[in-house]
Formats: sequence, structure tokens, C-alpha cells
Amino acid sequence: MIPTPFQYVRPNTLEEAIGFLEEHGQDAKILAGGHSLIPAMKLRLAQPLTVIDIGRIEGLNAIRADQNVVTIGAMTTHYALESSNVVSSKCPLLSEVAATIGDVQVRNRGTLGGSLAHADPAADWPAAVLALEAELHIANRINRRTVSAEDFFVDMMETAIQQTELLVEIRVPKTGATVAYEKVTQKASGFAIVGVAVVLNTAARTARIGVTGLAATPFRAKAAEAVLNGNDWTPALFQEAANRVPSGVEPLGDIHASGEFRVHLASIHARRALDRALSR
Ligand code: FAD
Repeated sequence: MIPTPFQYVRPNTLEEAIGFLEEHGQDAKILAGGHSLIPAMKLRLAQPLTVIDIGRIEGLNAIRADQNVVTIGAMTTHYALESSNVVSSKCPLLSEVAATIGDVQVRNRGTLGGSLAHADPAADWPAAVLALEAELHIANRINRRTVSAEDFFVDMMETAIQQTELLVEIRVPKTGATVAYEKVTQKASGFAIVGVAVVLNTAARTARIGVTGLAATPFRAKAAEAVLNGNDWTPALFQEAANRVPSGVEPLGDIHASGEFRVHLASIHARRALDRALSR
């Protein structure tokens, strides 16, 4: 199908982009890689009057690192994350997750910021940013605010980003190697039917587990984390934690998998992710 007519603008700066958002309000949409927005426009699920292409704003696709934090511009592609040496050495979970997304074409075009802002319940990145306790930096004309990954995902395809705001960058604390991402892939697209990201701190005996695909909103599996935190990590304890990953969650069911099956998959893949993270 053909989208409804729209005006296309291409700001050169963040300030200009925010200015367009303010000027056009609800009638405007940010264009990142276009991988979700363009299909939605073609199906007329989205009918923006103004499309604001942020692809030429300098610095929005940069990856920077200091000793403890990796800062990733919202326009950074999945491929850039997959192939970055800085990312693989300081935050290997991001490299692992990036490599599981779609195919080469999708990874070359799709962006971290676009994926997070779109908040598709089957997207892979939300599990990772939750397990990594990433901070998301959101700007409007006047100021910037920081939202934790946990507070960012509000509902299905709804985030903390307001109409006149833009997601600018994502800050991720450095981790060790004991991380893993396990997913059940939807064969046609690569999206996650269920995905579980695990970050283990073996010295402190703490675990963080992010889950996508299982529910309308991605979430931290806190009941499972509580089983692991501060205890001796035996295979039996890992299994108990994995069993608790879906607890308290209203599972999604669709043509790809029933809610009941997703619950089963979440536990199985949580156990696999825990085992693989520890083995590193
Ligand atoms: P766009 O489509 O340009 O934008 C998406 C939405 O976010 C729009 O509403 C836009 O206005 C808003 N937006 C974008 N950037 C910002 C910003 N900085 N601030 C505020 N709002 C913003 N994803 C997976 O996780 N796993 C997969 O396996 C996978 N497979 C895919 C296979 C195919 C064939 C396709 C087409 C997509 C797949 N994706 C997958 C999703 C894809 O990789 C993109 O991450 C996702 O579609 C978002 O696209 P985008 O970055 O191009 O953003």
C-alpha cells in the first residue's frame, strides 16, 4: 500500500529536530532507519503529516566509551553495535544481542534508538537494556532527562518519550564476560518469540535478568533474580530461578506461540542463558 501524503524534513541538528516536533505536534513522526515506521505508514497504521529524518544529525550514531560506561547514540545501527570492538570488550551482551537481530540488511538499517522507541513486544534490545540497567537520555528543547530502562517501557509500543521529545543516547555500564542472551526466533523475521538476557556478577553473586516477547511490556524478572542474589549458584538454584522468570506475568499469545507455550519457553531459555553466562 501507499502511505498518505506527508511532508519530509531533514534537520541537521538536534535543536532543529526538536523544533519540528514542537511545531507539528502529534502530526509529526521521527524517522530513524524506517524499518518499523515505513511499513506502519504503508499499512496506514501511522499517518504522520510530517516525517522528521534524524539520519543526518551529527554524533547521533556515535559509540563512545570511558572506563565504566559505553554511550551509544540513538541512531547507531544494530550492525555498528555487532561489529564494534569497544562494545564487544566492554559490554559483550550488546554484541551478542545485535548479532541475533533479523538479517544483515535489517542490522544495517535498524537502529538501537528506533527499536527502543518503537517498543515492539518482540524486539530483542529491551531485554538487554533492562538486564544491563541502561540509562536512556531523552531531550526536549529545554532540557535533557534520564530514564532508567525499567521506567522507559510503559506499555505495548508505548514508552516514556513524550511527543516533543527525542531519545538521544543510551548509556550502558561496563560488564564482565558473564552475560548471555537466549532467544526463540520467529523464523520469518528474526524477532523474539521469547528472549532472555542475563548479566551475572560472579564476585557479588548478583544476577539481572531481562525478558522480552513474553508479555506486552519487557520486564526484569525480579522474582528469579531474588532466588539467585547472594546465594550459592548450584544447578538446582539456577533451575528454581529459571522457573520463576515468568511468575506474575500476563503472557502474550498470538499466531506464533500461545501464552502457555511462551511461559514454558521463557523458563527453558532463562536456564540456558544462566548456564551459558556462568560458563564464560
Ligand atoms: P524507525 O522505524 O525509523 O522508527 C520506529 C519508531 O520509533 C517510530 O515511531 C519513530 O518515530 C520512533 N523513533 C525512532 N527513533 C527515535 C528517537 N531517537 N527518538 C524518538 N522516537 C524515535 N528487531 C528485533 O529486535 N529483532 C529482530 O530479529 C528483528 N527483525 C526484523 C526483521 C525485519 C524484516 C524488519 C523490517 C525489522 C526487524 N526488526 C527486528 C526491527 C528493526 O531492526 C528495527 O530495530 C525496528 O524496526 C526499528 O526501526 P528503526 O530503527 O528503523 O526505526
